[in-house]
Amino acid sequence: MDILLIEDSPTDADLIRRAFLKLDRAGWTLHWVERLGDAVLRCQTSSFDVVILDLQLPDSDGDETVVEFCTTFPDIPVVVLTVTDDEETAVRAVSLGAQDYLVKEQFTPQLLARSLRYAVERGRILKRLRNSEQQVVDALEQEHQINQLKSSFISMASHELRTPLAVIQTAVALLRHPNSSFSDMVRSNYWDRITAAIAQMTDLLDEVLLLGSLDKGGFQYKPHLLDLNTLCHELVESYRFNNTYKQTFIYTHHGCCSEVYTDPSLIAYILNNLLSNATKYSPPQTEIRVHLECSQQAIALTVSDQGIGIPLKEHSYLFESFYRCTNVGKIEGTGLGLAIVKRCVDLHHGRIEVQSTANKGSTFRISLPVESLKPQSRFRV
Ligand code: ADP
Repeated sequence: MDILLIEDSPTDADLIRRAFLKLDRAGWTLHWVERLGDAVLRCQTSSFDVVILDLQLPDSDGDETVVEFCTTFPDIPVVVLTVTDDEETAVRAVSLGAQDYLVKEQFTPQLLARSLRYAVERGRILKRLRNSEQQVVDALEQEHQINQLKSSFISMASHELRTPLAVIQTAVALLRHPNSSFSDMVRSNYWDRITAAIAQMTDLLDEVLLLGSLDKGGFQYKPHLLDLNTLCHELVESYRFNNTYKQTFIYTHHGCCSEVYTDPSLIAYILNNLLSNATKYSPPQTEIRVHLECSQQAIALTVSDQGIGIPLKEHSYLFESFYRCTNVGKIEGTGLGLAIVKRCVDLHHGRIEVQSTANKGSTFRISLPVESLKPQSRFRV
């Protein structure tokens, strides 16, 4: 047992030391410091099973000594040393967090040993109690979060499914009407609307499933050597080609991006979501810029738009599931895209930063380390 004695009087310290000598116990080691500040430093660097604490120290006095030590090191049991006529203080020290107390000049070596063993045992029980209390608090917090997620999901799903379902219902009703004499073009238009509504619902379910799979750890980081420049360029081109929002896309790259060791599917999820948001939240005829920068150590992917922007006070909620900013108006969305992006970035051990001003535009910058994940560096000692 490692015991730390915090006592500024050499005479009292010697008293304790001699009591220990009389005990003659192998495996009990006594360490001694004179000030509370020194004790704090020692406890930060070494582990002690129990502390014997004098209440009157040069840098701390009375109750304050116990409170400071016990709050800094709640897991180290404390036996307080007190003078003969001050048992009241000692009892208060126990109520403030000490496990036991000894009255100077009244204790015997056997009493000292019993008190230390008792303090250690009581300290262990209290630690277990604190841990189980923490587990209960964590479980309640988790349950609360799950309940919140469930209700957010239900309100998002009922809202986001209602519109496409209404489109399908109306289109089917019109097409099936016995008196409907639509031209082929009108019919085809209704079929297109039904297909788009089904695609919208499928996308929503895919996002929910993907997020669930990322949260359950069902998604592994699978890097391999790839031409990242081509991958990003093609994704931007697909947006340029299908762009119903009529923005201008500008893609640039810098550095050696044609041979990068990374996970293409995670990159695709990240860039797709950022591009989808940039187009959705920007007016027509504005610019959307994508810049890829590759170095030996990292890749940086930046997507900037000139759209509605994100209010500053909402930046910290952006990556929470189902969160949608207050300025989205009638623009549809699930609040899941950025939560997915964040998890993909985390799987890459990367970072995501946002700069945005309401009504001016937004820039999302993703930095992903690559060098440390290259196969050859994994075997470095
Ligand atoms: P959503 O499906 O609602 O777009 P996301 O998780 O992708 O969900 O984004 C969360 C919220 O962040 C959005 O609802 C929107 O308020 C805000 N947001 C994300 N990207 C942009 C952007 N480029 N410009 C403005 N707001 C954005």
